Amino acid sequence: MLTLDFHPTGRHFLQIPGPSPVPDRILRAMSLPTIDHRGPEFGPLGLKVLDGIRQVFKTRHPVIIYPASGTGAWEAALSNTLSAGDKVLMYETGHFASLWNKMALRLGLVPEFLAPQGTDEHLPGAPGWRHGVRADLIEERLRKDTAHEIKAVCVVHNETSTGVTSDIASVRKAIDAARHPALLLVDSISGLASADFRHDEWGVDVTVSGSQKGLMLPPGISFNAVSPKALEAMKTARLPRSFWAWDEIVEMNKDGYWPYTPNTNLLYGLAESLDMILGEGLDNVFARHQRWGAGVRTAVNAWGLPIQCDDPALYSPVLTGVITPQGVDADAVRRLIHERFDLSLGTGLGKLKGRMFRMGHLGDSNDLTLIAMVAAVEMGLRLSGVKLAGSGVQASMEYFAGHPAGTALRAAA
Ligand SMILES: *Cc1c(COP(=O)(O)O)cnc(C)c1O
Repeated sequence: MLTLDFHPTGRHFLQIPGPSPVPDRILRAMSLPTIDHRGPEFGPLGLKVLDGIRQVFKTRHPVIIYPASGTGAWEAALSNTLSAGDKVLMYETGHFASLWNKMALRLGLVPEFLAPQGTDEHLPGAPGWRHGVRADLIEERLRKDTAHEIKAVCVVHNETSTGVTSDIASVRKAIDAARHPALLLVDSISGLASADFRHDEWGVDVTVSGSQKGLMLPPGISFNAVSPKALEAMKTARLPRSFWAWDEIVEMNKDGYWPYTPNTNLLYGLAESLDMILGEGLDNVFARHQRWGAGVRTAVNAWGLPIQCDDPALYSPVLTGVITPQGVDADAVRRLIHERFDLSLGTGLGKLKGRMFRMGHLGDSNDLTLIAMVAAVEMGLRLSGVKLAGSGVQASMEYFAGHPAGTALRAAA
């Protein structure tokens, strides 16, 4: 039994897809004394993080930083751009898309939740949850909306509940092909700073993100990257907002300050994270996560278990969802691994509860962290009576040994 005075030796393995393990360098940066958020030292810090985060979103336009979890930034994206009764087109890729849809309903919007039909041999109840957004379905729906009642299209870039990414550029193309004026709102809470993302180039109007996934920070700050069109929409959007309102924040951010108390120590952490990520180079960061994902999937394939993502072109570089055989409770396997080996895996969310678990490969990780995770899962599956086709540990050792990391690590050495 775990009690408060139970101290396992060594480090806990936090292999959930967010919060991700925080590098010591970032924890140290955050341990500095809190300063006056209206004082002279604060402005330069604010300007530094606002400049750096724009580079990560790949935008020349404002990025708003909130002292809130990602859910707050979801609400900010909707409430700054829309009015009660507005129709929004959302797409069911998984649990997070479903939560955003629920939020839209609660805010008084009229969401239409596109969900592809069909069945799946492993997960009959959730046909769309193994695939990405189908831009053709969005285009088809928008073409029918000749009165332009749909004010926004909302999609999730990296669906953290499934480990499936979506092609955001193709959604933009679909909106343009339908000659539809809807805004494009994208949740990249778990994609940003791990998977390729281009706010400006892909024509996204609001990108929502958070601190505790690819940015390798603790939970507590979140983001809206906003296009000029989104800022324009704000002027006529009538959903109530005060704390989330972009206008005052953007105005004060010009000097590096906020209208209310920002999360000072998390901003120290963000400054450090940006130094690390931009210093390594975004392309190197993306390649590193791709390689980690490939090494982990090699193990799942060796076990002979299905990967939640059914489209190899859309495998998430951040996490891998593993479907357990019928009759094996994925949460019981997770619990056993936690109790025996002090390693946390992501649970199956929503429609996937008990049917799969999620292996995170993001944050402060390396090849051996991931091989340890694979070993813990392999032991846990065997102890749970799952018959495995082969050794995932062996397979991922061979993958990582045979595919040396790219230039990133060596250039920094
Ligand atoms: C984590 C996550 C969220 C929720 O963010 P919170 O910080 O828990 O509020 C929303 N969407 C996606 C895709 C996520 O990964």
